[in-house]
Amino acid sequence: MQKSAPRRVKIYEGKAKVLFEGTQPGTLVQYFKDDTTAFNNQKHAVIEGKGVINNLISEYIMMRLEDVGIPTHFIRRINMREQLIRQLEIIPLEVVARNVIAGSLAKRLGLTEGNPLPQPLFELYYKNDALGDPLVTEDHAIAFEWAAPQELQIMASMAQRVNDFLCGLFAGIGLKLVDFKIEFGRLVNEDGEVEIYLADEISPDSCRLWD
Ligand code: ADP
Ligand code: MG
Repeated sequence: MQKSAPRRVKIYEGKAKVLFEGTQPGTLVQYFKDDTTAFNNQKHAVIEGKGVINNLISEYIMMRLEDVGIPTHFIRRINMREQLIRQLEIIPLEVVARNVIAGSLAKRLGLTEGNPLPQPLFELYYKNDALGDPLVTEDHAIAFEWAAPQELQIMASMAQRVNDFLCGLFAGIGLKLVDFKIEFGRLVNEDGEVEIYLADEISPDSCRLWD
C-alpha cells in the first residue's frame, strides 16, 4: 500500500507548537499542540484540547492588537489547531511585562507574591532553553547583537501598549493580568527596511492570570 506523502515540511518543533512551511513564500503554519511545560521544561503534561483553545485565544488577541495598530505575525486561522503566520527572524529575547509581583520576581528579590507593582515592570530574558532563559539587560542584548538599540526601543514601546491593552481586555472578564511574556521578530519590507512584528502566541500559556 502506498503511504501518503507528508502534507508539508516541518521547520521546527518546540515545546508547545510545531512550525511547518506555509502555503505562500514568507509564511509558516503554526500548529498548537496539547503539550504543556512549566519551570523550563522540568514539568511536562498533556492537557487535551489546550492547543485548540490557545490557537483561538491567540488569534483573537493578535487580531485585536492589529485593530489598535500593533503589527503582528498573524495572517489567518486555518483550522482549530493551525494558523498561518508571517515567517520572521525571531529576536532571541523574551519580553516579560509585570503588573503584580509573582513567580521568579518574588523569588529572586524576596518579595511578597500578590503585591501590585507601582508601575508596570518590563524584563528581558535571553531565549535559550539550555541556559534556562536567563534574565539579561538591554546592554547584554546590544553587546551580543541579539537586538539593535532602535529595535529594543520599538519592542519596549510595543510591550507597553500590549500590556495596557491586555490589562483592559482581561479586566473586562474579571481577570487580573499579573504578568505575561511576548516575543518579537524581524521582517525586511519592500524598501529594505527592518520592521518589528509581535510573534509567537499570546494565550493562557504565556500569561499569568488571576481571578
Ligand atoms: P519553544 O519550545 O522554542 O518555545 P514553541 O513550541 O513555542 O517553541 O514553538 C514556537 C517557536 O516558533 C518558538 O521558538 C518561537 O520563537 C518561534 N516563532 C514564533 N513565531 C514565529 C514566526 N512568526 N516566525 C518564525 N518563528 C516563530
Ligand atoms: Mg514557546
